[in-house]
Amino acid sequence: MIYILLGPPGAGKGTQGVRIADANGIPTISTGGIFRDMAAAGTPLGLQAKSYFSHGKLVPDEIVIGLVKERISLDDCKNGFLLDGFPRTIAQADALEKILAELGLKLDGALDFSVSDEELIRRLSGRRTCKSCGATYHIEFMPPKIMDICDNCGGSLIQRTDDAPESIITRLAEYNNKTAPLISYYKERGFLKNVAADATPDEIYQRVLKIIS
Ligand code: AMP
Repeated sequence: MIYILLGPPGAGKGTQGVRIADANGIPTISTGGIFRDMAAAGTPLGLQAKSYFSHGKLVPDEIVIGLVKERISLDDCKNGFLLDGFPRTIAQADALEKILAELGLKLDGALDFSVSDEELIRRLSGRRTCKSCGATYHIEFMPPKIMDICDNCGGSLIQRTDDAPESIITRLAEYNNKTAPLISYYKERGFLKNVAADATPDEIYQRVLKIIS
């Protein structure tokens, strides 16, 4: 099973990705998560990526493409994987097509999670992320049992720097200019599956299951 999770920041790709991946025993590859981990570890590539993502700008294609190619060539991807946050530009989508062909793999579909801008801003501004394990919460819709503490690992919950209001505006503009054209790209190729994502995580998951099962 190979699916792309498309949709603006805050649409629920990460939350749904973890559920689908766990249920199917496949990894979910989040390029944003990889960049945050590399930046936290202080690697040169991580710090270079941070100079873009901390302001809500997209990391250059050549950096992302090389990283994804390496990641999906690993053994744990041989039964399938989900791509959360990749591709985000037409150049990345073209590169993915080539990488999959080289590896002899076939894409099953691109799930497009659509949500109104108003709802996205509410979700992103209330989102909190565990500093240790990356689990995500929402102060209103999915609060942790103890305030600011992760239910999974006891780590502290923080607000991602790119969930600050000025970065949210840049990220939504980057999405509209560079990523939204992928909706027609995958529609033309017969891969697009729409998921109305103005709903609770459970309701969205039920909609996803109907599509992928
Ligand atoms: P995300 O966790 O998917 O919201 O990604 C966080 C940030 O990482 C984005 O705002 C970008 O700066 C960067 N990023 C993640 N994936 C990509 C990608 N495919 N292309 C370019 N930048 C990316």
